[in-house]
Amino acid sequence: MSRIVLITGASRGLGRSMAEHLARAGWGVIGTYSSNRQAADEVAAGIAAAGGTARMLRFDAAEPGSIGTLVDEVQQALRDGFGAERLDALVNNAGIGELALFADTTEEQFDRVLLTNLKAPFFLTQRLLPVLADGGRVLNVSSGLARFTGPGYSAYAATKGAVEVLTRYQAQELAARGIRVNVVAPGAIATDFGGGAVRDVPQVAEAVAHQVALGRAGEADEIGSAVAAILSDDFRWVDGARIEVSGGQNL
Ligand code: NAD
Repeated sequence: MSRIVLITGASRGLGRSMAEHLARAGWGVIGTYSSNRQAADEVAAGIAAAGGTARMLRFDAAEPGSIGTLVDEVQQALRDGFGAERLDALVNNAGIGELALFADTTEEQFDRVLLTNLKAPFFLTQRLLPVLADGGRVLNVSSGLARFTGPGYSAYAATKGAVEVLTRYQAQELAARGIRVNVVAPGAIATDFGGGAVRDVPQVAEAVAHQVALGRAGEADEIGSAVAAILSDDFRWVDGARIEVSGGQNL
């Protein structure tokens, strides 16, 4: 039976590419989407057409009780979709950035970013511990902005820095069960993130290109392929690590 991974925010962007790469590598995929059911269905249909299996579940971290509901639905999807009891991996990919200078950031913006990027993955991982197989994997998603500064991203970067610290604690405390926990830090990637600025605004793409040793922003596909590698057995001795996938940004 294939291994099964849960990926949050799998209907677009980096999460979608992760789902497609992992499905191609033989993983069964359970993905979440927050609002766009049609996009989620298209991802699942594409995976099925390529010979894989994907189930998509709605999850909006901002809704009270959403984590408990998701955990129940994941267990049901495991049984009904895959005939399985356990998840082999969890990728905490869903995340948002609110572009605002530090001096202008509102409490509402801060709370939204904190909830989605830190509190939700913290408690989703905790609640899924009984469902996660011994020897399983957790991969958190941070950002290059936890290491270098980008104007207007103080709240966002603070949550991603916290996710990196959390990763080391999780790796330490879950090692007894053979669960390895790592964090991937993408650089600037052309997706919808940040209003699609890296993808759609030539000045932003050009500024990024100057910061990146390899001379351009990344593509979602380049994160999906890296994540499939990190979750593979080839990375079995990598634990508690921060893996930056940025083409060499701000070296
Ligand atoms: P994106 O905006 O295309 O996708 C974000 C995903 O998060 C979507 O699938 C969305 O449904 C989900 N999401 C948003 N709010 C949610 C909520 N309240 N509850 C549940 N799910 C929610 O952006 P992306 O570029 O694909 O970003 C994916 C991850 O990668 C994020 O954690 C982001 O911080 C990180 N990242 C992105 C970049 C980049 O340049 N694109 C760089 C570094 C890190």
